[in-house]
Amino acid sequence: MAPRLAAHGARRALLAVSTTCAHPWLAAARRPPSLAARALSCPSEPGARAASSSSSSSSSPASSSSASAATSVAFVGLGNMGLPMALNLLRKGRCDIVAVDLSDSSVARLQAEAAALAALPQTTPAAPAPPRVVRASTPRAALEEHPGVSAVVTMLPATRHARDVYEDERDGVLAGLEARRRRRSGSGGPPPAQSSVLLCDCSTVSPSFSRALAARVPPPHLLVDAPVSGGTPAARAGALTFMVGGSAAACAAASPLLAIMGSRAVRCGGNGAGHAAKVANNLALAVQYAGTCEALALGARCGVDPLLLSRDVFAASSADSWTVRAYSPVPGAVPGSPAYDGGYVAGFGAPLMVKDLALALELAEEVGAPAPLARAARALYERVVAAARERGADPRRVDFSRVYVDVYGGGGGGGGGGGGGGETRHG
Ligand code: NAD
Repeated sequence: MAPRLAAHGARRALLAVSTTCAHPWLAAARRPPSLAARALSCPSEPGARAASSSSSSSSSPASSSSASAATSVAFVGLGNMGLPMALNLLRKGRCDIVAVDLSDSSVARLQAEAAALAALPQTTPAAPAPPRVVRASTPRAALEEHPGVSAVVTMLPATRHARDVYEDERDGVLAGLEARRRRRSGSGGPPPAQSSVLLCDCSTVSPSFSRALAARVPPPHLLVDAPVSGGTPAARAGALTFMVGGSAAACAAASPLLAIMGSRAVRCGGNGAGHAAKVANNLALAVQYAGTCEALALGARCGVDPLLLSRDVFAASSADSWTVRAYSPVPGAVPGSPAYDGGYVAGFGAPLMVKDLALALELAEEVGAPAPLARAARALYERVVAAARERGADPRRVDFSRVYVDVYGGGGGGGGGGGGGGETRHG
């Protein structure tokens, strides 16, 4: 798929391809877009060669279990979003994956997919080997024991998880890069040039964490923040939008990788700018979503059918929005939305929305921006989480769109925890 790169500032040249950077992923970006995905595992890339030859010349413990291709991706965090993203790297990108997650089941799922790909008949005798999935116990092990890894993708719930994964002194990503460096310089003779590893954090986390992390990533390694929009359906379809922060060279290097998992990548600025854009986006979504629910509930109290109001009035007038067209809270309004069958099953869990609004408030305080609506919206989504707990449901499985039920009474009046909508699905 061609990476659709969008604008950053006046230069409409997002993720422009630098000719001076020799990153393995970047060489893929120079090829015609349709080849970008296949080029990810190309053994002729200079950086990939370096990684692969260091693997065979060192006493790497990876020899029997490491992923097979010269370039492979370490993927950390295989949850609702990470698993479908990694599946796309495997199926569409033909990338070898070194999987790291706390749960066995997602890793097993990826491995089953790799086995299914391997079982397909070869189209030509010279066809490349099918991609492989191996598990690593920690992010450090993924880098230290698998020298072919030239990119790390992380998809973790919150800042504290990302901090652990990148910065844990013993087991983190930075410790893995350092272990690689030591392995190279300790192999006798002049140390071979280090190949660059691309670090790509797709989680929604604090921009200041990302900026501080960037200052600790040693050259020639590169870091981008690339949080996503589009939810689990877009993750499955490989149609995510990425909001990218990092140096021009790092963003260009990330472009082919992002093109496998998404349909659009927008460079927003330097490190942390992607996360800031994502937090701003979700603040706008949270406020606009709750506002639409409030308006629907008002109309309903006045006797106007909420289904008609959402589908036939708002969607065709100045209240039109993504909310009413793609994600209406009214059961029966939008097929495929969590509200459609009245279930409100996440989707985008209410606690993640609360976390994103807390990030917005943190950020607003940091930069002195007024944020009265962020505070009000956070209180509303906190009520969705509290209501889930009260009825013994797992809040992570309750979609944020249930704010319509838990705060506004599902348009039927009342509010404050009552209303219909999926009690049985959540239990
Ligand atoms: P999730 O909770 O489903 O998955 C997180 C995964 O990370 C889990 O599999 C967990 O085991 C793993 N994990 C946690 N700590 C770890 C560690 N130290 N080492 C290894 N693995 C670890 O979350 P999700 O819904 O996939 O969301 C991930 C991120 O994407 C969040 O920041 C969220 O805000 C953002 N996001 C989610 C959606 C959505 O629709 N779900 C949409 C856009 C953005």
